[in-house]
Formats: sequence, structure tokens, C-alpha cells
Amino acid sequence: MKYEAVIGLETHIEIRSKSKMFCSCANGSGAPPNTHVCPVCMGYPGVLPVPNRRAIMTTVRAGLLTECTIAKFSKFDRKSYFYPDMPKNYQISQYDLPFCEHGRIKLEGTGLSGAPLPDKYIGITRIHLEEDAAKLVHSAEGSGVDYNRAGVPLMEVVSEPDMRSADEAYAYLTSLKEIMRFGDVGDCDMEKGQMRCDVNISLRPVGQKEFGTKIELKNLNSFRAVHRAVDYEIWRQSELLDRGEKIRQETRGWNDDQGESYLMRTKEAAHDYRYFPDPDLMPVVFTDEEIEAVRAALPELPAAMRKRFQESYGVTAYDAGVLTADRELAAWFDASAKKAKTPKLVANWISSELLRLLGEDKISIRECRITPEGLAELTDVISSGVINGKIGKEVFAEMYATGKSAKTIIGEKGLAQVSDSGAISSVVAEAIANNPKQAEEYRAGNERVLQYLVGQVMKLSKGKANPQLVIAELKKQLQ
Ligand code: ADP
Ligand code: ZN
Ligand code: MG
Repeated sequence: MKYEAVIGLETHIEIRSKSKMFCSCANGSGAPPNTHVCPVCMGYPGVLPVPNRRAIMTTVRAGLLTECTIAKFSKFDRKSYFYPDMPKNYQISQYDLPFCEHGRIKLEGTGLSGAPLPDKYIGITRIHLEEDAAKLVHSAEGSGVDYNRAGVPLMEVVSEPDMRSADEAYAYLTSLKEIMRFGDVGDCDMEKGQMRCDVNISLRPVGQKEFGTKIELKNLNSFRAVHRAVDYEIWRQSELLDRGEKIRQETRGWNDDQGESYLMRTKEAAHDYRYFPDPDLMPVVFTDEEIEAVRAALPELPAAMRKRFQESYGVTAYDAGVLTADRELAAWFDASAKKAKTPKLVANWISSELLRLLGEDKISIRECRITPEGLAELTDVISSGVINGKIGKEVFAEMYATGKSAKTIIGEKGLAQVSDSGAISSVVAEAIANNPKQAEEYRAGNERVLQYLVGQVMKLSKGKANPQLVIAELKKQLQ
């Protein structure tokens, strides 16, 4: 490859909050159009915006989670533009004094292509807070505007141009989403428009220091689309450069069905937003104590959790990834692992059985009848030999269906493993008597039939005999 790609992302993330950014209208999707509106978010004259303090503190939390410096003095500005989705004809945003600056996010694991990622951080230039615009709705009957989303608190996370490939962009977005979800900032569901991403991308000859001219890509509806679009743009821009053409600064859209980008507007058509401080809103001032209080309450992030699960619970890297795919699941596992004698077994049961059942029933871990303590108890009775793994599955299924504890089920159904030597010796004798041919083969030196005989003993004992003792007793009696 002659060229190196330079990529910076601008990501909008809706903050989860009860009310909108500057009024008390509810923040929530799914309501009938234009039911969450009031004179403030509709931009009627004579009203005053009142900032949502919790949304501001959530932005500060987002900044601390991405290692940003928090501004002790910041303000809101008006960004002027005229479009039906903006009832006031300006958007309240932040221009030169955002809440958060100079952060970073570490890339982790592998990219979408499966190739390992370089060990590096992606810089966060800034995170600022603004109000979301309304949604334009186009249908057969015509076009309309739904103002329910107008005024919803929205963060913009601007990255440094630190990414060099589609994989890195994908991994950055994956980590960003994970951090914001675990940090309780927002759900970041791209399909619901809670996370929206613009990609800036340029090429430069390998070895050149200066950046090339960037183009901005919009309309990216999934992380996968971002990955495809970056690869496509690298190809398209390489072709242009190879032909000796210059890249023009332009905004392009991404058509995911056709797998290509298209011209939306050139630099000449760029907006002049005429930012100026919003005279209706006071600057926002934080003390060190206020910032430190937010820092002290930060939750553990998934990357740290994965490390801890591997180090203190002996979980595999793969299972650690599965267990931290979701915040509730990670907390559930953590609670269970803390109680269990063999936490690794807890991880195995979750990834092999529990997630499958939850998936089949389309329910979340929160709705599951098994408690973290309950699964810990099940793994304990298995690892201490009260029941074997096979019976464990039966007990687990019953726990899942009824919510009863493992010990209760084992007691009710008489499932406890038989380790009594007299009892084992008599079933072993019975199995040998029932299978004289196989017993003879074993004595003649075919050790593989032992497994068959173990199976016969297990069958006779309805799966309850302790397999280790069965093997020892078989060997003894067959001698
Ligand atoms: P603009 O003035 O067009 O808004 P900014 O400098 O504010 O550009 O950067 C916007 C985004 O574009 C940032 O995420 C930044 O990292 C990225 N970016 C800036 N320059 C380049 C470049 N030459 N190639 C790729 N991305 C870039
Ligand atoms: Zn409102
Ligand atoms: Mg800019």
C-alpha cells in the first residue's frame, strides 16, 4: 500500500435522561410524534432554557471515563442554522469551551477483520454537550417533523485523527460504545439513532508527515457500515491519487446497499454557523471537589473488568469478553463468582448454558430465575462432588425453570452422588455380572472397554455414582 489512511471520528451520543436538555419535556423515543414538546423546545419567543444539571454531570462522567480534562469554566453557545429540524433556528451547543478535552481511549483485541490491533490509544479532542435536533419523517403521505427529539441532551465526542484503518475505526467505536454503556451515559443503540457517527478520512503517501485533504462521510448506520465505508474511501481516494488527481474537501454520504459513497456537498457550500455565547445561559463553573466527586464514583470499565475476571477468577480471555458484553451480565457474573469456590465453573455455566437459555427465551439476565448465589451454590456442589456434571445439567434446568435452589432440588429428587463404597461396590459387581464378555476383554488387556463398563455402572446408578470411585472399583474388581 502506497498510502496511509488518516481517520478521525465525530460521534454523537444521546444521553439517557428523564427530561430534555433545557426544558422538562420527557426524553424518550417511541411516543406519538410531537407529544414531548413545550414552548422551550419548540423555540417560542419569550421562554428561557433551564439547563439539565444531571445531563451536564453525565457529560463530565463521560469525559472522566475517557481520561479527559474537565473544564472548570465552560459555557453554551448558539450555533445558527436554518432548517426545519431546528425550531429555534439555532442549536444550543458548545463552541470554544467544551466540558471535556484531551482524553483518550485504548484500542483492544482484534478488529472486525480478525487481525490483531496495534497497541495504541486514540486521542479524544473534546466532548461537548448540545441539544439534539428534531427528526424529519418522510412517508408516502408526505414529509413531517417530529419534535420529540428536539432538545434531547446530546454529546459530541470528537476524536483526534489517530486511526489508520477500518479495523481501528471499528474498534474505537466499539470501545466508545462499551464505555458509555457501562458508564450509564446512554444506550448507544445506533438503530435507534442514539449513536451517530461521521467519519473524516484522508490519505497520505506512506512516510509523509502532513495530512492530506479529508472528506467527511455521513449517513453511517452501523459500525459495520463504518468499516465498509472506510475501506471503500481508501480505495476510492487511492484511485484518484494514482491518477494524479487532487482530493477535494467534500462531504459525502454512504449508501450501504450499493456499497459506495456519493457526493453530498463541497467545501464551498459549508455552513457559517456564526457561533456566539448563549445570552440566556450562565457559564458553567465546577470546583475541583465537584469534579473529584464524579471521579470517585466512576464505575469499573469493561476493559478493566475483563482483566480482573481473568486474573482473579481464572476465566479465559474469550469468556471474559462474553461476560462483559453487557453490564448487567458482568455484574451478575461478578456477584456469583465472588461467592463460588470455583469461579471459572460459574463462567462455564453462564457461557455454555445460561446464555443459551436466556437467548432462547429472549429474556435478560435480570429476568432470570436463577440468582448469582444460586449458580455459585450449584458449581460448589458439583466441584465438591455432591453431584456430577451430568446431574448438574438436570439440576440447572430445574433451577432455571422453577427458581429453586440446587440443594433443594437435589434433596427433593434424591440426586446426590453416591460415594458410599459399599453401594458402589455392589453396582460395579452387578455391571460386571451383566457384561461378562466386556469384563473378559478388559482382563485380556483391552483397556478401552473400561469406559463402556463405567457407562453401564452409571446407568445402573441412574447417573449418581461418583465416577472416580466407579473407575477405581471397576479396576479393583476386574483384576
Ligand atoms: P473541521 O474544521 O472540518 O471541522 P476538525 O479539525 O474540527 O475539522 O476535525 C474534525 C474531525 O476530522 C476530527 O475528528 C479530526 O480528527 C478529523 N480530521 C481532521 N483533519 C483530518 C485529516 N486530514 N484526515 C482525517 N481526519 C481528519
Ligand atoms: Zn420541551
Ligand atoms: Mg471542527
